[in-house]
Amino acid sequence: MTGTEECGNCAEDSCSAKVKQAGEREQDYQDRQQLAGRMCKIKHKIIVMSGKGGVGKSTVAVNLAVSLSMKGHRVGLLDVDIHGPSVPTLLNLEDRQIQGNGDALTPIDFSEKLKVMSIGFMLQKRDDAVIWRGPMKHNVIKQFLKDVEWGDLDYLIIDSPPGTGDEPMAVCQFVEDADGAIIVTMPQEVALMDVRKSITFCQQLKMKVLGVIENMSGFSCPKCGEILEMFPSGGASNMAMQMGVPFLGQIPMDPYVASACDDGTPYVTRHADSLTTAAFMSAIKTVLNGDNSDEVVNDNSIYNNEREVKIMRIAIPIAEGKLAMHFGHCEQFALIDVEIDEKKIVGSVTETPPPHEPGVLPKWLSEKGANVIIAGGMGSRAQNLFTEQSIEVVVGASADSPEQIVKAYMDGTLEAGENVCDH
Ligand code: ADP
Repeated sequence: MTGTEECGNCAEDSCSAKVKQAGEREQDYQDRQQLAGRMCKIKHKIIVMSGKGGVGKSTVAVNLAVSLSMKGHRVGLLDVDIHGPSVPTLLNLEDRQIQGNGDALTPIDFSEKLKVMSIGFMLQKRDDAVIWRGPMKHNVIKQFLKDVEWGDLDYLIIDSPPGTGDEPMAVCQFVEDADGAIIVTMPQEVALMDVRKSITFCQQLKMKVLGVIENMSGFSCPKCGEILEMFPSGGASNMAMQMGVPFLGQIPMDPYVASACDDGTPYVTRHADSLTTAAFMSAIKTVLNGDNSDEVVNDNSIYNNEREVKIMRIAIPIAEGKLAMHFGHCEQFALIDVEIDEKKIVGSVTETPPPHEPGVLPKWLSEKGANVIIAGGMGSRAQNLFTEQSIEVVVGASADSPEQIVKAYMDGTLEAGENVCDH
């Protein structure tokens, strides 16, 4: 294709690849057209990021891609983590060679519905170090994105290089119409500091943050499968709430995840009925629900083989990150999803309510799937309107963080004082 030809995929006048930008070199314009031609055949593009390496970003990317393909979607998994391309190992594809077709690279079929391409396939030997200088890294990422011939896909999951440097920036800039980024972190404060930077980085690049996943949160006992808290967890959900981005859930540290990674078998297929798989599925349900397929999971419950995981959604009016006493005029609502049996927070999102009008909030929160509202105070008329929408009302809570309130409510230790605001 030359710079003056159209890519042939569509007749969209609005396509940015139709117009050469002022001062753009001919080669850059051709590359941009080629990239646009490949990307516009892909319905959804999701970038998996992390503030630093080793937090489980590739593990999440692989299991997300496999889960989507198991739902019947056509999926591509692209590993552009140029310093530690681990997808070939995670899927036991290390010995595979990539086939070229003219300018194009043909991805490897992992299964009928899942195609895989990794920068690791380019390395001669498994343990070769990848030493590329700055501009080379940028070009390698661009070349990879534009040369891989995926064909038509429902989803492309991109395993990005970690951090907030030039490499993830190149990924975000080249995949300019991505649905957004999932950011993976661990519960420790050092990892959370990095993830704050990743969120700010996305905001600066106008990349939507689809949500934060806290990996290696708690420990899944290999004997009984129960999930035990090892260190204080929940830091990521608090941080996500403070930064106004969705929290997608926690995945425990599970020795079987590590062994599945080492063996090259996706964890979610090998241990389909474990609590850890349920946690993976819960964490990615927002992505799955983004599709209109009949097969997607329900709003308030997810099913995983025989196991049914019951989720309850608790609404809390908030101002400056704490419960707001005047619920009818609050700035925002925290909507927190709790796994009922485990009493564990598995997701949260902050939403701005519609302008205040009598009766509008109960209806709005019902549409948002809330089962309970916890407030500082509420008039009896409003309480009746919530009850009519089948939303349980708890009043008299104090101005703590939504997370503390939900934990206390689930443990049965929430101290409900006076109904402080009766209007
Ligand atoms: P990253 O892509 O962030 O560098 P990886 O996905 O490669 O991280 O994971 C790093 C290591 O941690 C791998 O050995 C993987 O098996 C292990 N790992 C990731 N998530 C879990 C988990 N939930 N439980 C146990 N081990 C995990």
